[in-house]
Amino acid sequence: ATESDVNDVVVIGGGPGGYVAAIKAAQLGLKTTCVEKRGALGGTCLNVGCIPSKALLHSSHMYHEAKTRFANHGVKCDNVVVDLPAMMAQKDKAVFNLTKGVEVLFKKNKVSYVKGAAKFLSPSQISVDTIDGDNTVLKAKNIIIATGSDVKGLPGITIDEKRIVSSTGALALTQIPNKLIVIGAGYIGLEMGSVWARLGSQVTVVEFAPDIVPTMDGEIRRQFQRSLEKQKMKFMLKTKVVAVDTSSSDVVKLTLEPSAGGDQTVLEADVVLVSAGRTPYTSGLDLDKIGVETDKIGRIPVDRRFSTNVEGVYAIGDVIPGPMLAHRAEDDGIAVAEFIAGKEGHVDYDKVPGVVYTHPEVASVGKTEEQVKASGVAYRVGKFPMLGNSRAKSIDDAEGLVKVIAEKETDKILGVHIMASNAGELIHEAALAITYDASSEDIARTCHAHPTLSEALKEAAMATYDKPINI
Ligand code: FAD
Repeated sequence: ATESDVNDVVVIGGGPGGYVAAIKAAQLGLKTTCVEKRGALGGTCLNVGCIPSKALLHSSHMYHEAKTRFANHGVKCDNVVVDLPAMMAQKDKAVFNLTKGVEVLFKKNKVSYVKGAAKFLSPSQISVDTIDGDNTVLKAKNIIIATGSDVKGLPGITIDEKRIVSSTGALALTQIPNKLIVIGAGYIGLEMGSVWARLGSQVTVVEFAPDIVPTMDGEIRRQFQRSLEKQKMKFMLKTKVVAVDTSSSDVVKLTLEPSAGGDQTVLEADVVLVSAGRTPYTSGLDLDKIGVETDKIGRIPVDRRFSTNVEGVYAIGDVIPGPMLAHRAEDDGIAVAEFIAGKEGHVDYDKVPGVVYTHPEVASVGKTEEQVKASGVAYRVGKFPMLGNSRAKSIDDAEGLVKVIAEKETDKILGVHIMASNAGELIHEAALAITYDASSEDIARTCHAHPTLSEALKEAAMATYDKPINI
């Protein structure tokens, strides 16, 4: 290869980490190539994650609203039916348009795009088996590993993506199951469970741990679980799956047992969703050939500049430690490109918001009350129920609350937890506040438009050091 063939940056993986890193690197004047083996850009998030799940959550919510609540608003529709192929087609169209959109962004920013699977030949050279059957070698001064994560299975359970599905199969079922069992009460399991529960499935969530979504603030979590139970989702907590029997063509039989051991029960379902987490994906990269280390669960450790233990080789997103979320991967992508371009980059993993896109949504940023308590810092809590919020009441969608946790001595906000129909949007005011070390009084004294759901955050902030007005 000639010198002009040497890239400043090659990014392996075109997910939210990789494609954002590639665009930012190109914007910073670096000659950049992105390699993606899927045949479409956008990674897990756009193809089989965030985007298709949000499409189905929205469509199923519309159906459920039409069926159960439109009449309360004086909108009568007699024969509300699900057209599942049409629902899936709208989801597929959203995915297609968005993944194509990233290709357009690559062209606009002059990022070269190679479709194929990459593996390391040296710290500055990768070999790509292209999806059209060729092989090409790319040279680069810097290589960013952004290969993301994959579904984590469970021992003894074979995922066939038909009756025993991962989240990928659960996004593409061709029939609404009568009975769906979700193994794992993390956010992905609850979101997918919600979709199918709204469309009519009887959904049972089986979870080994004593709680759903263990990272969530306990008080919010309990209300959230009650809300999902009202939506007819059943929970079997502290329960483990000991055997799966697929020998009958009608139903899948799961043998369950209390996590601590005890009497077994058998539960039947048409479809079982295995949603037990995700695992970093480095297979096929030949990392050992160049000596890039991984930790005991397969993640690639990096320093604050996202550099691996091998000079010139970086890693970002789901494949490194940290919250496995698309927006975190994107922020990593910007920061690593900035570091490579000789600038400073920064991502604070303690201030990454997390959202569960059920209805109501649950969103949080910063520490939970349990974490603050454990840290020994004296704190105050301000709460405001959505029932006291005039906008939520006016639209008859007032389930949930806002909870603000602030340091007692300084009033600095430590954590904000919101359960509300629009929590995923509301949380960003809190994320900004936490990022800039604002106090709860700063939020409370910021003029908020009326009537908005955001006023609930203002009132909860007020309640940390004073009394709220509307409750
Ligand atoms: P990925 O998106 O996994 O992308 C990695 C890419 O690398 C893949 O496209 C893969 O094909 C490619 N690749 C791997 N190896 C090679 C190789 N050797 N050569 C070439 N290419 C390779 N996160 C949120 O923030 N919000 C959500 O609402 C949300 N919903 C989700 C719903 C579901 C059902 C799932 C499964 C995940 C969801 N996530 C969500 C998580 C989110 O998808 C991930 O955190 C995010 O995609 C991680 O981005 P990444 O760029 O690190 O990796």
